[in-house]
Amino acid sequence: MSQAPVKLPSTLDCITCGLCIPSCPTWQLTGRESQSPRGRVHLMRAHEEDRLPLDGDLVDELEDCLVCRRCESVCPAGVSFGALMEDMRESAIAEGFKLPRKVNLLLGQLNKPRRLSMAMGGVRLLQRIGLSKLDSAMAGLPPIPPASERKALPEWSRAEGTKQGEVWILEGCVMPELYGRVNRAAVRLLQKAGFDVRAPKPKLCCGAMHAHGGQGHEARKLARAWIDLAEDLGWPEAIVSTSAGCGAHMHEFDRVLADDSEYAQRAVRFAALVQDASVFLRSDRAFELISSQLKPLPGDFQPVAYDDPCHLCHAQGVREEPRSLVDSIPDLVRVDLNDPEACCGSAGLYSVMHPEESAKLLEGKLQDFDNTGAQTLVTANPGCQMQWTGGVRAPKRVLHLVELLALSVESKLPT
Ligand code: SF4
Ligand code: SF4
Repeated sequence: MSQAPVKLPSTLDCITCGLCIPSCPTWQLTGRESQSPRGRVHLMRAHEEDRLPLDGDLVDELEDCLVCRRCESVCPAGVSFGALMEDMRESAIAEGFKLPRKVNLLLGQLNKPRRLSMAMGGVRLLQRIGLSKLDSAMAGLPPIPPASERKALPEWSRAEGTKQGEVWILEGCVMPELYGRVNRAAVRLLQKAGFDVRAPKPKLCCGAMHAHGGQGHEARKLARAWIDLAEDLGWPEAIVSTSAGCGAHMHEFDRVLADDSEYAQRAVRFAALVQDASVFLRSDRAFELISSQLKPLPGDFQPVAYDDPCHLCHAQGVREEPRSLVDSIPDLVRVDLNDPEACCGSAGLYSVMHPEESAKLLEGKLQDFDNTGAQTLVTANPGCQMQWTGGVRAPKRVLHLVELLALSVESKLPT
């Protein structure tokens, strides 16, 4: 038996109905049962019952999973596939399996803002002289903004008009380096909705990528650090995230720290505070003020199509709020993708570890987008924004939801 934290009862939840199979992107790519959710649950159960060793073949089958969690949306038995996969990957690492060097390198930088910023400065230089294309991981990155745009948020941004409350924004680790303008747009919207916004310092990584890659120990350490920060600074009334992936993970700190007797209770409290920016902005408290400031978009931004990030729709069950916010923009024309809940292939570490398959998944999404005739693709997750940006050609464009809203409020694109 492994030192695995895999919870055998969770694998037993599966009633082998197979409803999840057609929706799984890796099954769609390969047609193999072992590359489907049901197949993977069987493999995990077999391992836990000591019928299957945790060898390279098994690890490969499990590593191919995007952890997009689409299977969770269709599973009638409530199998928590994402949690199972994270636990299983942690087991594999505990038993000596190693992540690829570049993934280890990436994970090692995430909670070191200064080093990450220096590394991004280096990538920007390579992009400018055309050498970044030589590395598949770097080739997938959007243009790195200049240092003047890659700056941390101020710790406090004060409410405009009458103050309604005080929230934290999750600044993120990679987000300020690639999409600082998205965070700045979110802060301005929250200010306009009457909230003081705190970007808590020190800046912490949420640990989602570590959990996704099987580095559960590091993920739990970061979750505890967030809770300590809330204790030190005072618990906020909400923690707003512009990243569906980070938000989904922080929303589950109660699960991440369920076995930690010292932190488990506080983790429940913390998890309940985490809200996606779309949920917070669509709440009664924020929406009235925001919606009154929305103005029509310039014509060439329309029609608009919204694509559901996996970690927003499947992991957090958030589907209506982003669409409702988009539809609140006066005169806006929104068109539907045929399959908005299909993964774009970004999926945390997946695009770094499986660039070819990731590109194939994006290809299908791009075709879907082209078929709609939309000019702007709207998403709500930086990983998806990065992935889509790699495929959508000008004059069409990709915007984060808060960028679209800020454009509507301020009549110019956020910087
Ligand atoms: S998480 Fe996604 S890729 Fe993994 S088994 Fe479920 S549907 Fe398939
Ligand atoms: S849908 Fe759920 S219960 Fe059915 S096979 Fe897939 S994981 Fe098992």
